[in-house]
Amino acid sequence: MFDRVWTHANLATMDGPAEAPLGLVEDGAVAAWDGRIAWIGRQADLPGSAKETIDCGGDWILPGLIDCHTHLVFGGDRAAEFEQRLAGATYEEIARAGGGIFSTVRATRDASEDALFAAARPRLQGLMAEGVTTVEIKSGYGLTLDSELAMLRVARRLGATLPVGVVTTLLAAHAVPPGFPGGADAYALHVAEDIIPAAAGLADAVDAFCEGIAFSPAQTALVFEAARRAGLPVKLHADQLSDLGGAALAARYGALSADHLEHASATGLRAMSEAGSVAVLLPGATFVLREARRPDVAAMRAAGLRMAVSTDMNPGSSPARSLLLMLNMACTLFRLTVEEALMGVTLHAAAALGLRDRGVLRPGLRCDLAVFRVSRPAELCYWLGGNPCSRRIVAGEQSSP
Ligand SMILES: [Zn+2]
Repeated sequence: MFDRVWTHANLATMDGPAEAPLGLVEDGAVAAWDGRIAWIGRQADLPGSAKETIDCGGDWILPGLIDCHTHLVFGGDRAAEFEQRLAGATYEEIARAGGGIFSTVRATRDASEDALFAAARPRLQGLMAEGVTTVEIKSGYGLTLDSELAMLRVARRLGATLPVGVVTTLLAAHAVPPGFPGGADAYALHVAEDIIPAAAGLADAVDAFCEGIAFSPAQTALVFEAARRAGLPVKLHADQLSDLGGAALAARYGALSADHLEHASATGLRAMSEAGSVAVLLPGATFVLREARRPDVAAMRAAGLRMAVSTDMNPGSSPARSLLLMLNMACTLFRLTVEEALMGVTLHAAAALGLRDRGVLRPGLRCDLAVFRVSRPAELCYWLGGNPCSRRIVAGEQSSP
């Protein structure tokens, strides 16, 4: 006897062999018990009965989608800045007028937790409507101890009040706050000695932005050492604008993931693969910044590196509110195959968050499902826009965002 069973469905379990990784099952069914997948297979083989049976009418069931890199809690937005840039203003002029990331920092610090929550909620609900059942949310627009913790509390509250799994990441080392006494060195030390220990109960991981305009490899290492002392895994915004060896640095600390990687070297990518780190690809940022340089997907494949795909939803470089659109962009801009793109928002996205209980359809794992009215899984990567998600199931419960 199951709690619930979904019938008349085609399944992409993401649990197939290397030569057919989508693990397709036609005329399949999934059964849930106590929030977990209790059985999965061809409907003709379905054993037992269920308290509730849901006929999916031939739709496709995938593992609930996972958006593994977002900055979706922030104050204000930068639409006016976008407009000014299109009207001819330079980055320097916008920065002088108080624009750029620090306008988001100001707006985030000035907002109450209730206001941040109210602004973030519809952004998250938009992802959920597309079949997202787990999302990672970073801090990083407070850049003070109190405001970074406030952002993490808002992220946790989103997960506690909406039917979605939320993983929180402390990104206090996102930028050096203007006017911080002692500059980047002193701020990195403050993050390591004060902010990380204070955030240990609110953050599931620690992230940093290793870049010429942010933190050096040595400052990043200081932050990572503190994360290690706090027992928190690390992630890294690495080699996005230049090759500072971020991929190799992330590997050295056994990072869950290194993200962006447009300029990462083949050596760095191999080190990541050996360390078991996941490469998170963020085509929205490449698109918005009109970056000519693309992540070296061929080198990632050659290194056997797992690739995830995410929105990087943020108010500046990637105001991307659709993970399905990122599937298309990952295929179109980065030439990922359909299999790679879909693994990138399911099992590899779970790995990028260190989650072993989801991302594939397998008995014993969380029953997080995304159901789509499509003729084949490739349709999820094919369309730009539109939302074919017909149902989402979180821990065995049918849920609407
Ligand atoms: Zn990011």
